[in-house]
Amino acid sequence: MEKTIFQKICDKDIPADIVYEDDQVLAFHDANPQAPTHVLMIPRKAISRVNDAQDEDKLLLGHLLLKAAEVARDLGLGENGFRLVINNGQDGGESVPHLHCHILGGRPLQWPPG
Ligand code: 5GP
Repeated sequence: MEKTIFQKICDKDIPADIVYEDDQVLAFHDANPQAPTHVLMIPRKAISRVNDAQDEDKLLLGHLLLKAAEVARDLGLGENGFRLVINNGQDGGESVPHLHCHILGGRPLQWPPG
């Protein structure tokens, strides 16, 4: 199967502005930011979307969420707050089929989303 753009970033086939990485996850700035801070946190494991995650992925998903909050704090979003978003499937607005958590902050965000 052909690698997704995020798998290519993971494998360092293409560049990205990486802000955090460990043996399980990688975080990098979004190429088309929707807020002053917009970072994507992805698992190295090629899980297409949260709806395809399995029971065996629960530790990985917990790690991803905790690291997303840590990265948000490291980027200075801890005090004013931030939003974590996971788009799933067509109606969810997913455009890259490799699970990713958006970390958005640096301005007040509206609710509900469009
Ligand atoms: P989705 O719509 O699937 O939830 O989010 C995909 C995100 O990936 C979008 O916000 C888009 O701007 C970002 N994106 C797509 N291609 C690239 C890329 O090659 N590099 C980076 N850094 N971000 C990308």
